Amino acid sequence: MSDNPFFEPSTLVYELPPFTAIREEHYLPAFERGMADQLAEIAAITADPQAPTFDNTLVALERSGALLRRVSAVFLNQSSADTNDLVDAVDAEISPRLAAHQDAIHLDAALFARIEALHERRAGLGLDAQSLRLLERHHTRFVRAGARLGAAEQARLRELNSELASAATAFQQNVAADTRARALVLDSAEQLDGLSADAVAAAAENGRALGHDGRYVLSLKNFSNQSELAQLTDRSVRERLLAASLGRAVATNGPLAIRMAGLRAERAALLGHPSHAAYVVEDETAGTVEAVDALLARLVPPAVANAEREAAELAKLAAADGIEEIAAHDWAFYSERVRRSSYQVDAAVLRPYFELERVLHDGVFFAANLAYGLTFTERPDLVGYHPDARVFEVFEEDGGSLGLFIGDFHARASKRGGAWMDELVSQSTLLDKRPVVLNNLNIARPAPGEPVLLTWDEVRTLFHEFGHALHGLFSAVRFPLFSGTEVPRDFVEFPSQVNEMWMTWPAVLANYAKHHVTGEPLPADLVERMTAAEGFGQGFRTVEYLAAALLDWAWHTVPVGLEIADAQEFEARALAEAGLAVAAIPPRYRSTYFNHIFASGYSAGYYAYIWSEVLDAETVEWFRTDGRTVRESGEVFRAELLSRGGSVDALECFRAVVGRDPRTGPLLARRGLA
Ligand SMILES: [Zn+2]
Repeated sequence: MSDNPFFEPSTLVYELPPFTAIREEHYLPAFERGMADQLAEIAAITADPQAPTFDNTLVALERSGALLRRVSAVFLNQSSADTNDLVDAVDAEISPRLAAHQDAIHLDAALFARIEALHERRAGLGLDAQSLRLLERHHTRFVRAGARLGAAEQARLRELNSELASAATAFQQNVAADTRARALVLDSAEQLDGLSADAVAAAAENGRALGHDGRYVLSLKNFSNQSELAQLTDRSVRERLLAASLGRAVATNGPLAIRMAGLRAERAALLGHPSHAAYVVEDETAGTVEAVDALLARLVPPAVANAEREAAELAKLAAADGIEEIAAHDWAFYSERVRRSSYQVDAAVLRPYFELERVLHDGVFFAANLAYGLTFTERPDLVGYHPDARVFEVFEEDGGSLGLFIGDFHARASKRGGAWMDELVSQSTLLDKRPVVLNNLNIARPAPGEPVLLTWDEVRTLFHEFGHALHGLFSAVRFPLFSGTEVPRDFVEFPSQVNEMWMTWPAVLANYAKHHVTGEPLPADLVERMTAAEGFGQGFRTVEYLAAALLDWAWHTVPVGLEIADAQEFEARALAEAGLAVAAIPPRYRSTYFNHIFASGYSAGYYAYIWSEVLDAETVEWFRTDGRTVRESGEVFRAELLSRGGSVDALECFRAVVGRDPRTGPLLARRGLA
């Protein structure tokens, strides 16, 4: 295995992983050697006869695990963005072993004793601010991971972590399998009435690819609501499509969700907390369960009232079609009708103005130039992990190089749903690393030779994910623990949400929203109407989101030992108790396909999106009104916040930009909840 490309650091620019040499069989040996190497490095720290110092303990710990870092970054990306059976098998095999590896470090008594000794005399160590924070953060992380527990409790903790890691992998694989299995197969093109000609062609092509030649297949996307629901005129098809989506993984993941919630509650109790949510938020900017409860409780009544007003509007149009009561599968369809009749906005009319290359170069990259002076050069000579993954080099205003950005925009069968940012190389001056970051989206591929035209929401997603990318690219920290997006989870969505503001920033919009054939700018009145129509959908969007956030909260505030018989019953009761059981608005995710909270690290954290939005709404206000040029404001935002990663307290970064504590007013106004 001497030819394993993970065993040595990459020699490519920015240490871009050598994707042309990487094959599936390299992963397991690299993980195994990576874990063994790191444990040997830890053993060398604890065997050091010298008294613990910041350098011989904390810095050594930060330097450890280089090979494991390399293979983990590449593997985690492939398992999300381009998986296959071999990768899934490695995932199932390695997840519990990685959890055990983390426990081996955090529960290493000799290592913790050194950190504890340093922590006790931290004030006298003469550390600079970032080093002191590193010591404090590691100490907190070890304590939170169980370093102070007795041997029997630690043994149980290891079991819990191992089982939870395996369960998370199984959960995600169940969602993926059932999402594929429940694709809606239709016999005739008439059933697709309402969809655009290219969408019908794509459904036919999908049918061919999936072995249903001559039939039409609508594959399911992540969210409960499927985008086709807005257009399909056949009510029974809408009903079948939504039912297929809502029923995903009930049989497999219902019991698994119950099991995982129970294990997490037990782990929290072991670590001295009343619930998993209490354990999680203690280390977030929210701080307490009560703080999150208070924000959610404040948002629910006005959001529901808003949704009810929207429902009344929809009902008027539906009545004309003989529909007495709006069902969940009618909501998007009649919303689209309201947008057309009340706001004269037709989603289909917008798409020709949102061609992917223009939105990317003249919108997303242009905004980054306006605010931060960045420029971008595509590097086709650098090979990504998939032919769709395009590599761009990012340059500073003065021409200096900053990092690499990889854009992987299209949906494919091997990619999980949704959109996300990831890092292949995380910035750290200690390790002499510059950032290599990537964005994944799931934009449908058009027919050969056709342009890629985006929806309004896809444009927003492109700006959003690029906000995460900037957070990674601008990172200017010493220690890997603090790199880029290594901030509290209820803070990490804040920079990405702020970046969404450029989508409709007049100078940016005028630069990118041009008709892909004629080059004509998007008519100004259409933008105004679209913005007004966005206001109309806030009731639905806020309720749909809050329902998911409250489900997450319900699963993770259960006390240890609570018996839950049925996941769907639990879910229905939780929504009713929260005052959020709006029959025609299903949660954005139902429990059995809620990967965020059962598979990917957002457990007791889905509230973070709206929590971050408080900071986002404030910051957008600040950009608009602080009296500086956009370029000057961008520089302040970068210097005080985006470059800091986790090296400075998150809310301190916010205060350094905006000049005070956050208030909820701007968020309530934006969501029409004031
Ligand atoms: Zn995000």
